Amino acid sequence: MNTRMIICLLITLPWMVPVCSAVDVVSSASPPPQAPLPAPDSEGTTSTITMGAAKIYLFIEGRPFALSQQELRDWVQRSAEIVLQYYGGFPITESWVAIRGARGSRVMRGQAIGSVGAVINVDVGLAATPEALADDWILVHELIHVAFPSMARRHHWLEEGLSVYVESIARANAGVLSEDAVWTGFLDGMPLGLPRAGDKGLDYTPTWGRTYWGGALFCLLADIGIREQSHGQKTLRDALRAIVAAGYNMTRPGDVRTVLAIGDQATGVTVLLDLYEEMHNQPSPATIDSLWSDLGVAKLDGKIIYDDRAPQATIRRALTRPASQ
Ligand SMILES: [Zn+2]
Repeated sequence: MNTRMIICLLITLPWMVPVCSAVDVVSSASPPPQAPLPAPDSEGTTSTITMGAAKIYLFIEGRPFALSQQELRDWVQRSAEIVLQYYGGFPITESWVAIRGARGSRVMRGQAIGSVGAVINVDVGLAATPEALADDWILVHELIHVAFPSMARRHHWLEEGLSVYVESIARANAGVLSEDAVWTGFLDGMPLGLPRAGDKGLDYTPTWGRTYWGGALFCLLADIGIREQSHGQKTLRDALRAIVAAGYNMTRPGDVRTVLAIGDQATGVTVLLDLYEEMHNQPSPATIDSLWSDLGVAKLDGKIIYDDRAPQATIRRALTRPASQ
């Protein structure tokens, strides 16, 4: 049996908004996790975090972390609550998070495995501080993987793009990532997702840029399109919640058109399937210059500036608005 893992390695980029790169691992000998923990290969402590009806089984490796067990546990809970808030509930009833020690002073890398239950492995620097956890995006990114079905390899851009895009939006909505930080990340990152010479569309161009940022661009365009066509009544979040409500998560494979159709049905518009038809097998969109001017956002001398007279300024403000406002 082939098992499929999503591994997200940290790359710190010059603009300080990290993104991750992925490696798909096809293995014929990956052991299943032993409930309630994914067969930890070292000594550690185990506990359970309860999120409503959902349980997260947490393993913390017994290494000399600068962080206390409580700080690590609180970080997992905070990250899970961001995802819970976005999805209106935690997307799976049982999941496993294993924290292992690594050299470094931040969260170093994450990995989500859906073929043997929803299992997240995350390496945390032994020298990491509470500030490093407060800035972390990796665990939220991995938890978002849990909320979407596993897809055929050529649609990997959709799995990663969703995690990249929703991680920023969900953290902004939770009030832990600023509007400026979201747009800095998007303005710097999204151009990396544009097609280059020889591109055959998202399904057939599995480069790093197209997978992560091409996928994230699909999600941003989808979120804007849904908001626009539904006159502000629906968002990408409604589509993703409906996909979870239909019983999909990382442990259940999904056919791309079937899954996107569920999202479209929930929003009452056909943005997801239309955009998929446009972007999956051809080099689209060619440019995103008008996207930024329509939203009314730009970067000038390293500073994010906003134009509230832009045609989609209302949508731009709504995207990052904290739920508490
Ligand atoms: Zn990922």
